[in-house]
Amino acid sequence: MTADTARLPLLLTELRLPTIARLWPAMTEQADREAWPGARTLAALFEHEVAERAQRRTQRQLLEARLPIGKTLDTFDFAAVPMVSKARIAALAQGDSWLETGTNILAFGPPGTGKSHLAAALGYALVDAGYRVLFTRTTDLVQQLQTARKDLKLAPAIEKLDKYHLLILDDLSYLQKSQAETSVLFELISARYERRSIMITANQPFGAWDKIFPDPAMTVAAIDRLVHHAIILEINTDSYRRRTAQARNAENPPDTNRSS
Ligand code: ADP
Ligand code: MG
Repeated sequence: MTADTARLPLLLTELRLPTIARLWPAMTEQADREAWPGARTLAALFEHEVAERAQRRTQRQLLEARLPIGKTLDTFDFAAVPMVSKARIAALAQGDSWLETGTNILAFGPPGTGKSHLAAALGYALVDAGYRVLFTRTTDLVQQLQTARKDLKLAPAIEKLDKYHLLILDDLSYLQKSQAETSVLFELISARYERRSIMITANQPFGAWDKIFPDPAMTVAAIDRLVHHAIILEINTDSYRRRTAQARNAENPPDTNRSS
């Protein structure tokens, strides 16, 4: 063992290069054997580190996004929602310009029509594309922000959410009147306005939003900010859950004769 090979593991740990630390013994041996130019050996090692680093980052960001399991674009049946264009969703799934300008997505529709699934599917695609996403029930996030406000830490709590290019607020309509009273949701919407995107799913369109904010003026101001740069997806089908349950029943009709 030379002095170099003895020092390398320490140096690589110090520099936090775990992939090179794993690969260098075999790779340098091959390089010696095949007389690779020094630059080629270095490039090969660093390429592996960079590739694995990207993988580790995606893995981390996937965990932090807290997306519901299995609700991806692959498992989303676009034929069931003709009013949602597959091509448009595929374009949004790439991220880019809409996230850079803080454009919002508002998905409205009755329960069971795939709003949460679609939101999560976009989330998965965006994490894959290198963006940071957080999927949360609106009530949970509002509760967290209310706690922060009580501790006089609302501004830093909202600032911490800035690291997410997209914040998915699932089920806005389930917010309770008591939660609306502190207006933390309005603060969040104002803070992200034209900078960071929000995706909202809601059973009810704007008309029914007066219980989500403390007073009508704030409701109007919040909606105004949300829709200024927004993509609105209205899903007016029947519940996918109900439709698939009906289809199952049609295939396997409940045996009504047996019990009689
Ligand atoms: P919503 O959020 O609108 O109430 P969900 O997204 O929770 O509805 O959908 C209800 C269930 O039906 C979920 O299990 C979801 O995966 C499934 N689902 C809804 N729409 C579709 C679809 N177009 N393709 C595949 N699964 C769907
Ligand atoms: Mg939902």
